[in-house]
This record gives sequence, structure tokens and C-alpha cells, in this order.
Amino acid sequence: MQLLDGKVVSAAYKEQIKKEVEERKAAGKKTPHLAAIIIGDNPASRAYVGNKVKTCGELGFNSTLVEYGTDISEDELLTKINELNNVEAVDGILVQLPLPKHIDENKVIATIKPEKDVDGFHPSNLGKMMIGQDTFIPATPYGIMLMLEHYGIETSGKNCVVIGRSNIVGTPMSVLLSRNSEPGNCTVTLAHSRTKNLAEVCAQADIIIAAIGKAKFVTADMVKDGAVIVDVGINRIEDATRKSGTRLVGDVDFENVKEKSSFITPVPGGVGLMTICSLMKNTLKAADNK
Ligand code: NDP
Repeated sequence: MQLLDGKVVSAAYKEQIKKEVEERKAAGKKTPHLAAIIIGDNPASRAYVGNKVKTCGELGFNSTLVEYGTDISEDELLTKINELNNVEAVDGILVQLPLPKHIDENKVIATIKPEKDVDGFHPSNLGKMMIGQDTFIPATPYGIMLMLEHYGIETSGKNCVVIGRSNIVGTPMSVLLSRNSEPGNCTVTLAHSRTKNLAEVCAQADIIIAAIGKAKFVTADMVKDGAVIVDVGINRIEDATRKSGTRLVGDVDFENVKEKSSFITPVPGGVGLMTICSLMKNTLKAADNK
């Protein structure tokens, strides 16, 4: 078993991005600028946004953090997004999900200018990705592709099972891996909560991408010997041995599955780090596109 180590891969990409930003600045080009909007005080969302803003600083980007309470109206939020759409200095805009129930997520995503939609969630960018046009690829699937590429994982002709069909992870992942590209050229099964005999479906897979949101859902009996395992899940479980009383685990039962896998991502330290990295790549691309 070899770890697909998000720390190693993201550090390499971050170094490269930092260098590009320095070169841009030296050439008198504009500094990439990410604006992040966060609503409410969900600790996980705060931690994700905090990391994104911190990474901007590390890589030499400018960033703007806009914070609202959960009582913000949909109209106010859309007005703010429109304002940022028109700020020349801002290259990328992200709105941290999930949103409070009274705000329509689809409306919010559709309001972000596609040229600034560095999360790649706008219908126009997702559509472009579907037909293989140059666009912003959603950060998590993009990060997974970068990781597979970095480790030279052979994907062509392989059976891949993606578990979870969300618009931001599972569905775009299935599209990217089935494309005629490297990595890609997989025969992809997109599984979800209605999939029958999921364990048997998974047991046929050379590559499993787990994006479900259920702790340790993928167990060793579901995994073929030598399979490549990518764990997207981030779940907090109780752990009395930790000072905080909790710890993070993925959607894969890592301790048991690792013995059967050829490559596996840890949680934390795997896909999450790559997600931030690809968000930064997308923001740099947005600045470049100008
Ligand atoms: P969603 O809740 O949007 O989607 C979950 C998917 O899992 C759904 O398609 C659902 O099926 C499927 N599912 C649920 N239960 C089962 C089951 N018993 N069997 C098979 N499929 C099932 O989640 P996200 O895609 O947003 O996120 C998934 C996980 O990844 C979460 O833990 C999230 O925190 C994490 N995440 C991590 C990121 C990172 O950077 N590492 C980034 C984004 C997310 P159905 O459609 O039928 O309901």
C-alpha cells in the first residue's frame, strides 16, 4: 500500500503557484485576488474558509473575506455578489456552502459571473466541463485528478466506481474520469443511495472514489485486492482519546481497507488539501484569463 499524500502533492503545486505569482508580480501583472463569502458560524465551514484565505496569503494572492450572520436575506447576498462581480481587482468569488435554508443555493451560484466562478459550480462552467471545453473544474474533483496524475496512477481502461452523485463532487468526478484524457478513459459507474448491491459493484472496481458523507462506509469486504482508493469524505466522530473528544475520518474504513489497496488517500491529509490547491489554481487561471 502506498499513501496518496495530499501534503506532498499540494506542497509541490503550491510551490509552483507561488513561483508563478512572483513572476506575475515581477512582470507588473496583477496579483490574483480571491473573495470568499461565509454565512453563519458553522465551525467546519469557518475552518474551510479560514484555510482558503490563509493559503491565499501563503501564495502571495490578495483575498477578501466577507462575513454575514444567518439573518442575511437572499437579496442582500445577491447584491453583494453582483458588487464583487463588478470589482475589477477581484478575480475569483466563492460562496461557502451550505447556505441557510432561506437562501436558494442555485440562485446564488448562478449569480456569480462565470469568469469569476473559481469553484466551477456555475451551470455554464459545469456545462463546459461536460463537453470538455476549457473552464474552471470544480475544486475537489480537479484536485483528485491532479493527485492521480502526480502519482502516475494508471486509469485508462480501468473500472472506476464513484459513490455519491452531488453536483460538486461525485457527478463531475464521474465525467472527468470517463473522458478521453489522462487521467481518464475509465469505465465509470456512478453509485448513489438507490444503487443495488453496492458492495458487489464496488468489489469490481479498480478505482473507488468515495464521496458519501458517512464515516467508514466503505469497508474492506467491498474492496478488491490492489484497488486504488480515494476518500473524499470528511466526517467528525467521537473519540474519547482526543482532547477535543472528536476526530475526523473519511468515508472509508482506512485501517482495514489500506491493507487491500495499492494506493489510498488518508483523511485528513488527502483530498481536502488538494481541494484548496485546485481552488488556488483556478483563481490564478481567472487572473490569467483577464
Ligand atoms: P452530498 O450529501 O451532496 O452527497 C452525498 C452522496 O452520497 C449522494 O449522492 C447520496 O446519494 C450518496 N449516498 C448517501 N448515502 C448513501 C448510501 N448508503 N449508499 C450509496 N450512496 C449514498 O455530499 P457531497 O458530495 O457534498 O460530500 C460528500 C462528502 O465529501 C462529505 O463528507 C463532505 O464533507 C466531503 N467533502 C469533502 C471535500 C474535500 O475537499 N475533501 C469537498 C466536498 C465535500 P443520493 O444522491 O441518492 O442521495
